[in-house]
Amino acid sequence: MDQETVLDSRVGFKRVNAQFDREQTLEKQNLQLRVLLEVGRHLNSTLNLENLLDSIIKVASEVIETEQAAILLFDEQTHELHFAAATGLKQATVKSIPVPMDGSIAGWIFIHNKPQIVQDIQHDARHFNEVDQKAQFRTKSILGVPLQVNDTAIGVLEVVNKCDNRGFNNQDIEMLETLAAQAAVAIENARLYQQLHNQMAALKDAQARLVQSEKLAAIGELIAGVAHELNNPLTTIIGYSEILRSLSKDEESINDLNRIVTQGHRAAAIVRKLLDFARQHKSERKPVDINSLVHQTLDLVKYDFHNQNLTIETDFSPDSPWVLADPSQFQQVLINLFNNARQAMANTKKSGRLRISTRLVPASIDNKQPVQQQAAVRLAIQDNGSGIPAEHLSRIFDPFFTTKEPGKGTGLGLSVCHGIVSEHDGVIWAESEPGRRTTFFVELPVIANRPACVGVASAASPKHFSTWPEADQSTKNVKILVVEDEKDLLLLTSRIFQDKGYAVDAVSNGLTARACLLETDYDLVVCDIRLPGISGLKLYEKIRVEKPNISKRFIFISGDIFDQATRQFLDQNNLPFISKPFQPAEIQAEVSRLLDKRQA
Ligand code: ADP
Repeated sequence: MDQETVLDSRVGFKRVNAQFDREQTLEKQNLQLRVLLEVGRHLNSTLNLENLLDSIIKVASEVIETEQAAILLFDEQTHELHFAAATGLKQATVKSIPVPMDGSIAGWIFIHNKPQIVQDIQHDARHFNEVDQKAQFRTKSILGVPLQVNDTAIGVLEVVNKCDNRGFNNQDIEMLETLAAQAAVAIENARLYQQLHNQMAALKDAQARLVQSEKLAAIGELIAGVAHELNNPLTTIIGYSEILRSLSKDEESINDLNRIVTQGHRAAAIVRKLLDFARQHKSERKPVDINSLVHQTLDLVKYDFHNQNLTIETDFSPDSPWVLADPSQFQQVLINLFNNARQAMANTKKSGRLRISTRLVPASIDNKQPVQQQAAVRLAIQDNGSGIPAEHLSRIFDPFFTTKEPGKGTGLGLSVCHGIVSEHDGVIWAESEPGRRTTFFVELPVIANRPACVGVASAASPKHFSTWPEADQSTKNVKILVVEDEKDLLLLTSRIFQDKGYAVDAVSNGLTARACLLETDYDLVVCDIRLPGISGLKLYEKIRVEKPNISKRFIFISGDIFDQATRQFLDQNNLPFISKPFQPAEIQAEVSRLLDKRQA
């Protein structure tokens, strides 16, 4: 072989080698393209974020041929990066390690929004070696690229320790960037889907609550009418029974009458609850510190809890959340919830524990709550009592739904709570694990400006009058006009005052009452509000002009005290009133108080 031939064959050899290299590169690129296509198809076909991230890092590690790969996502709350997925490492361990922005290569990539190759990690001061220590791994080299959505970094995709010794090259960057671009879009899609999913759940929840509110409002209207109609006969039953009881000498009759009076009061209490439930008036709201309201209400029920060996734990938000609320109505909500919890715990053999917490929560729909404008305070009342079976949970706020024995529950407590909380623009709901625990949540919008100091009114408890006042000399010259259109009630009210020794005139029409008032100077006018002729309030307005002195002697009786306009009128004119059904001694005491006041 001559010299030329040898040279020729070397050139040919080189050519063959170059061709072989080119073919290998092409084959590799071809393989990578196929893998990318496959990945793209997979990414577009699933919305499960965890699966997605796992397949992305698996492919990245395989295609770039590395020992390990990971995805870190930016946490907006902590401003750190968190491992969302990692191959070749203990997932649970690394997921618990937050990666700082400063002092980590991933942080550098995220902040600068640029790819980065580090061939020898041990000489790079940015290396964050806590992960290596905890996961018992040795990082030698890293290639990382930012995950971007609309040019903004949302995380980092990195591959670690290239398997061959040649280190990472530009082709690897290109490959990882292509994967990262697909991954970022898929991550964003999955996030959007999750958000949409949460919003749909919140919407469904809100709709269910709306249906519940509307249902309750309709029932409320119906029972308000019925309850109102019950007031007059109940007042008559209780009143006459009490009169008879006070006159009776025979013990058996007294006992029978006692039963009538007790049952009459029980019925009256139910009517009061019904009217509370169906309240049509806007509550009188003022700024209330929810923590102190809960505290004060606990003082009222503490005794019953201690008596039954039940413990109470409180965990109040230090932010002292203020809400705009009617304190006494809200106290009623709390008392109902506390009493239900107490009864549920008394029914089990466990040692009962009531936990009450308040927290400020952001106004968000992610936590399954309806969209609200402001932040809210969430009150949680948890007992470890009998729990509520799933099939009852959707019915507990329905009026008359009760699982308690007759005489122990009316089924109105929670519907009253629902009405009051809704009226306060709040939400109330319950969660329960039957046999283990029940938690009632109440969420109310907080107010921005906290007042320096505002007192909290106590819920009014019904007064009890047990003594029947005797007639005395001082009442003889006192003239009272009773105005009431229901005949039995007119007779009863007149009788109550006559028994006490007052001189009583009784009329059943507003116009007749006016004529009497113009003619006679009564010491007191006991007047119903709904009257034929002219209403009690119109009568008062006329007399205020025609006989201003007498107008100061009015006391109103009504079963309609929750009517917004009536309540406003009485408040504005500072007029005393008694709600039906009343007890004879109650109206008697109020009349004596007014007469004493006048004399004084
Ligand atoms: P009542 O207490 O008169 O039955 P409510 O409207 O207050 O009426 O409550 C309705 C029902 O909800 C109760 O009968 C009971 O079955 C259930 N309930 C309420 N609170 C609790 C609780 N904390 N634990 C278990 N069940 C409860």
